[in-house]
Amino acid sequence: LWVTFEGGDGTGKTTQATLLETWLREQGRSVVRTREPGGTEVGVLIRDIVLHHRGEVAPRAEALLYAADRAHHVATFVRPALERGDVVIQDRYLDSSVAYQGAGRVLDAGEIRDLSLWAAEGALPDVTVLLDLDPASARARLDAADKPFDRLEAEKSEFHERVRAAFLHLADAEPARYLVLDAALPADELAAAIRSRVLSHLS
Ligand code: C5P
Ligand code: MG
Repeated sequence: LWVTFEGGDGTGKTTQATLLETWLREQGRSVVRTREPGGTEVGVLIRDIVLHHRGEVAPRAEALLYAADRAHHVATFVRPALERGDVVIQDRYLDSSVAYQGAGRVLDAGEIRDLSLWAAEGALPDVTVLLDLDPASARARLDAADKPFDRLEAEKSEFHERVRAAFLHLADAEPARYLVLDAALPADELAAAIRSRVLSHLS
């Protein structure tokens, strides 16, 4: 079973991924936790380029770097884990590329999706949790948590609005894969909704 978490920065993906991981382990499941970009040793190097040179990398080059990270991650980490029967819990996947490199950087969303699917040999998660939140609230949360520099600051608010709209659009197009949640709800309510969806996929 492969579960991915999507949504803007400050929407609580990491918190919910951790709650799900803990719960699954309590159920005796074998779980691996990973993320993009940076889920592998090679990916950490790519993550360093895309995050520390954000805005300097040409948009198509950025899209290819995310795709390269994804190709290596799926081939060397995610697929082997799924073949072992592990549950894979992942922070961000190709939907993030469609939203950030597509809508954010204004590249063609369909081309970005095709590039990602090529990179990942068509692999798609069983469940994708979208934590939806307006960018202003997300920013307030990051500020409250005293998260340092970058993040939301690195891009204009219109960028984050486009990213949010793109995620919602993706979820509309694939309702069977997506679970869309209002990230402003209390964390325990969100966790319960996520558990119930995941449970429906576990035999
Ligand atoms: O904490 P996280 O790993 O999600 O941070 C990664 C950063 O990279 C985020 O700020 C996100 O905006 C950005 N990102 C991106 N395109 C992707 C995935 C992440 O711009 N495909
Ligand atoms: Mg995070």
